[in-house]
Amino acid sequence: MADEALITMEDVHVHFPVHCGVLRRKTLGVVRAVDGLSLVIHRGETLGLVGESGCGKSTAGRALLQLIRPTSGRVFFRDTPLTELRGEGLRRMRRHFQMIFQDPYASLNPRMTVGAIIAEPIRLHHVARGSAVQSAVQSLMQRVGLNPRFIRRYPHEFSGGQRQRIGIARALAARPEFLVADEPTSALDVSIQAQILNLLVDLRHELHLTYLFISHDLAAVRHMSDRIAVMYLGNVVELAPAAEIYAHPQHPYTQALLSAIPIPDPRAEQQRHRTVLHGDLPSPLRPPSGCPFHTRCPVALAHCATIAPLFKEYAPKHSAACHRLERSPA
Ligand code: SF4
Repeated sequence: MADEALITMEDVHVHFPVHCGVLRRKTLGVVRAVDGLSLVIHRGETLGLVGESGCGKSTAGRALLQLIRPTSGRVFFRDTPLTELRGEGLRRMRRHFQMIFQDPYASLNPRMTVGAIIAEPIRLHHVARGSAVQSAVQSLMQRVGLNPRFIRRYPHEFSGGQRQRIGIARALAARPEFLVADEPTSALDVSIQAQILNLLVDLRHELHLTYLFISHDLAAVRHMSDRIAVMYLGNVVELAPAAEIYAHPQHPYTQALLSAIPIPDPRAEQQRHRTVLHGDLPSPLRPPSGCPFHTRCPVALAHCATIAPLFKEYAPKHSAACHRLERSPA
């Protein structure tokens, strides 16, 4: 795989001020949803972004696409600084990157037919004109496994899996190079999830796409990803090739997450060692000092509460942020 950077995030912060319910102008604090995230996504790869609900992974995906403007930091698509674009300049660039949403039903306009939903980005980004729009829509429907004869139907006439296929067709309509798939299967029946994941894998190869695949489902992330970034309280704590991170997780948080994956073999399942994390994810309104994981870490050191560990490469292409790794040789 070529290591050409398609997306670069540099020290991205997304902070949301929390206002007093009575005195609207009074700010009670700031939610640090994304807190200094730096990440490179290479052309042609799928980068999996995992973490518990509320860790900031969806906000990071939206900030990457400029659906939420970062409070600070920069995002590049190749050499183009997206964070510096506004209006028409940003709209033109949007053709290159699109999003597949978690809830296919909520993301589709119920008053529009499937044909109109998919045609909208085709027209907006001048991918086709006139009668060519209809054939482009039908060909996209076919590509994602929908019968083109259903072009005049409305979203409520489709099943959950079919609606997600419509969402994928719409995301592909502008012929993007890069897609953020935000929990694309978590609202679907288990029986349908594998079909949608396999469709995304096929489309990636056929259309030479690059993905950021966001999920809390470690099995789905493993199936989809070349590299995996593990996120905790607004930042990445471990990043490595998928096979490496599953075989040799270095960060205690990653180890705990992986130890919770069920094993299909009942005997192995009984014998496996499971690290149970105590307590909930701390509030991003008041993140812990030092290492943000120290309040739940089963192997925390005395200085973990006061000194934040650096995110460093400890093995080839394998980086993590943990004081315990600083002690051991690379
Ligand atoms: Fe645990 Fe300390 Fe490592 Fe944080 S830095 S993960 S608290 S050992």
